[in-house]
Amino acid sequence: MKYKVLVTKPIPEEGLVDLGKHCQILMPPREGPFYTREKMLDLAQDIDAVIVAGDKIDEEFLEKANKLKVISVYAVGYDKIDIPAATKRGIPVTNLPEAVTESTAELAFTLMLALSRRLIEADHYVRKENDQKWHQFLMISHELFEKKLGIIGFGRIGQAVARRARAFGMQVYYYDVVKKDTFARYLPFKELISSVDYLSLHVPYHKNTHHLLAKKEFQIMKKSAFLINTSRGAVISESDLTQALREKEIAGAGLDVYENEPQVTPELTQFPNVVLTPHIGTGTIETRIKMALKASDNVMKILKGEMPKHIVNKDDLNL
Ligand code: NAD
Repeated sequence: MKYKVLVTKPIPEEGLVDLGKHCQILMPPREGPFYTREKMLDLAQDIDAVIVAGDKIDEEFLEKANKLKVISVYAVGYDKIDIPAATKRGIPVTNLPEAVTESTAELAFTLMLALSRRLIEADHYVRKENDQKWHQFLMISHELFEKKLGIIGFGRIGQAVARRARAFGMQVYYYDVVKKDTFARYLPFKELISSVDYLSLHVPYHKNTHHLLAKKEFQIMKKSAFLINTSRGAVISESDLTQALREKEIAGAGLDVYENEPQVTPELTQFPNVVLTPHIGTGTIETRIKMALKASDNVMKILKGEMPKHIVNKDDLNL
């Protein structure tokens, strides 16, 4: 075997068959135990490529990985990778923008439906509490039809959510730093967040999106509005959100991502009007296989001296 590839967490083997013909793959078993940080630092010394599934690649890792030729991110978001540190060493960082769009948009929409129709509460009622006093106001909820949806970050996933919303008869508005040619209507940030019934976040995490929604934004949202976040946890101040929910400044929240994941602010788990998922936006088997195939292809292309389509530090590396 010529090359060694570290895969930091188990991903579907179906997507690694071709890679395995050319490289030795080091990957923890699906059922665990997963690699500790120490184990990864130890393996780093001897690898040519790394496929990164949710782990941090920083100076310390790169300092050890002196044979590393490519960092293939098993996601679209690359905020856990120290890009300047990789660039400084001439290492290309690839990501998977196309593979993750539909499954993440479906999850955002699932959260929106679950919140508006009180799906988790209703299920809990039938299983745990069914007092058999079913009446016309039992689990009374809201419909999406004709409601206003605001999308912040109108890129691939934001637009995929917008297409679904249009099919549900919603009025779709967006805010983005770049204006787009679209059926959805652009609104400035404050106007958008203060006027919509559902607000769904789809921006990447960077210094300008850190705590994009915090205390003063929750104060101007409608009290009847629902917030959905499938982007990155720290786009929201989790403590301000918890306070806004406690003080009923908004109607509820659907979250797939958290500021200090895998930890979740314990109080969030106590609200019935909050739906929580463990960062599973891309967690369908179809998408996870597509991602494994694409992440492997990115590794093989770089190792063969070819150019994958998505290299995030391409310009800085003058490729
Ligand atoms: P994208 O690059 O296609 O779209 C992002 C959009 O946000 C762009 O239109 C960009 O102009 C806009 N934007 C950037 N900074 C902004 C700002 N400060 N204010 C307003 N708009 C801004 O990305 P995408 O493929 O749609 O993915 C979006 C993010 O979703 C990813 O970066 C990732 O962090 C997250 N994500 C999460 C999951 C999950 O499992 N929950 C899965 C996939 C992606």
